[in-house]
Amino acid sequence: MIIRPKVRGFVCVTAHPLGCEANIKEQIDYVKANPSVENGPKNVLVIGASTGYGLASRIVSAFGCQANTLGVFFERPSERGRTATPGWYNSVALEKAAKSEGLYASSINGDAFSTEIKDQAVERIRSDMGKIDLVIYSLAAPRRTDPKTGETYRSTLKPIGSDYSNKYLDTDKKTIQEATLEAATDEDIQNTVKVMGGEDWELWIQKLEDEGLLAEGCKTVAYDYIGPKVTWPIYKDGTIGRAKIDLRRAKDAISESLQSIGGRALISVNKAVVTQASSAIPGVNLYITILFRVMKDLGGHEGCIEQMHRLFTDRLYREDDFVPLDDRGLIRMDDWEMEPKIQEAVTEVWPKVTTETVDELTDFDGYQDEFLRLFGFGVKNVDYEADVDPVVNFE
Ligand code: NAD
Repeated sequence: MIIRPKVRGFVCVTAHPLGCEANIKEQIDYVKANPSVENGPKNVLVIGASTGYGLASRIVSAFGCQANTLGVFFERPSERGRTATPGWYNSVALEKAAKSEGLYASSINGDAFSTEIKDQAVERIRSDMGKIDLVIYSLAAPRRTDPKTGETYRSTLKPIGSDYSNKYLDTDKKTIQEATLEAATDEDIQNTVKVMGGEDWELWIQKLEDEGLLAEGCKTVAYDYIGPKVTWPIYKDGTIGRAKIDLRRAKDAISESLQSIGGRALISVNKAVVTQASSAIPGVNLYITILFRVMKDLGGHEGCIEQMHRLFTDRLYREDDFVPLDDRGLIRMDDWEMEPKIQEAVTEVWPKVTTETVDELTDFDGYQDEFLRLFGFGVKNVDYEADVDPVVNFE
């Protein structure tokens, strides 16, 4: 079939298998063209491995460190004439590329919050990999069923304390609009912490530890975002921000439990990038379009793969084995985003952006291109007029 993008709000309901494969190849080529990771990990588990930051972490592990990788994700294969989700196509392409270079790469598709998927991962690691020396935790999920109680919690993106109004970018209509977000209830806060907080990360590490599958000196890393003041009401000070505070609590608890094997848990605060998760956050897409414009003009613009390559080479696996942290004990990969000259430029532009000035003041086109690329559209050297089979499977 001929596959075209079908955008519905902040998702695209189709994906292009060859475009996704070409995206993976570009990311692999980037890693190969840059310094490899000295003393990198050899056995890596990535939870949330099919898109965004988790996918980029897996690519750096495999192609920058020559590591064996096990990826866990929740994606949909092609069914009844519908295309698969991009994360499915990405993961098939990644496995194929890794195997063609003699690297072990295996995947588990299912709900990472469940005990069943954790058990499957334990079995796979035990039979195929041996001890794990890096666990990346990169889930962005709308809901979680607690494996102990069976209760399902939904995460929300809401301000805390009072309703909040600000402008946002309607990407379909290319207009700047004003929206009011209703303040979260206590239940919204607790539910979001349940889904996006640190509890499940702790359960994963506890299980691997109990099964004796963590190597001496192993590291585990989860991802965080702080961002500038203009996004704080909805991000840092909102429901998702509360979940991230819980993630930091979990980091300390996990680090303590890993002490006996000389392991440690870390949190990396990453830059704002275009992913399926970030496109769903109200107001954040307007910030990203301005940020991209400023960072492309002033320098330092990065996507997921550049960030994750820098995380591995300049933070996690430096020659001196030192992991630089800020005064709160966090790795700051958002250092370039938060530079005063970048933030001052964003702050100056923000109030001036209107529907009429979107093109002039923001990187709207760049944002749209990147958004469509997440689904495999608009990628160089892909023939979008060609008939393609949407059914692509793992070998
Ligand atoms: P993403 O949407 O691109 O990826 C989410 C991943 O989680 C996918 O692999 C998906 O399959 C997987 N997933 C979702 N629900 C699952 C489930 N129930 N079981 C198994 N897998 C599941 O997200 P992203 O933007 O890369 O976000 C990853 C992390 O990075 C999050 O913690 C996010 O807060 C953080 N982060 C993102 C940004 C950004 O701008 N995108 C910035 C800083 C930090």
